[in-house]
Amino acid sequence: MHHFTGFELTPRKVEYMKYISTRGERVNTSKMAVYFNVDPSTITKMIGELSESGYLTHVPYHGVTFTQKGKEYTEFLLRRHRILGLVLTHYGLSPEEACFESARFESYVSREMIDRICRSLGHPMMGVCGAIPHDRECCQLEADHLADEQKNVNTIQFDR
Ligand SMILES: [Zn+2]
Ligand SMILES: [Zn+2]
Repeated sequence: MHHFTGFELTPRKVEYMKYISTRGERVNTSKMAVYFNVDPSTITKMIGELSESGYLTHVPYHGVTFTQKGKEYTEFLLRRHRILGLVLTHYGLSPEEACFESARFESYVSREMIDRICRSLGHPMMGVCGAIPHDRECCQLEADHLADEQKNVNTIQFDR
């Protein structure tokens, strides 16, 4: 796991990365330009920048794939988006509203804060718009720890 704070990408690039993650490996840049309502050259430029920063590998005429770093980072982006969405649904927003609203500010929320909310929510598996990917630093370590604890204290009954 690469170390990151959650502030590595601009809000726009966060949206591009999430979009690419939902489209698989072949990303059609002209469709993407239509979706984001920008000029295709903007998409090409952004893909070039994300490749230079090590998030994507661009194979001309074949599309883009995530590097390992890009894959891990996108899992965090999805977790951040969906954890914040869950928080918003606790305060009366519908899943659609929560999805929309969290996308407006999620890029300003640190990984540290997401890990802490994730922990306090018990590492939920399902968000408002899909499954929540879990990483070792936050969720998996915790899950391992809880499993160990359960082994050690399986004679004690907890009120939960
Ligand atoms: Zn969403
Ligand atoms: Zn977690």
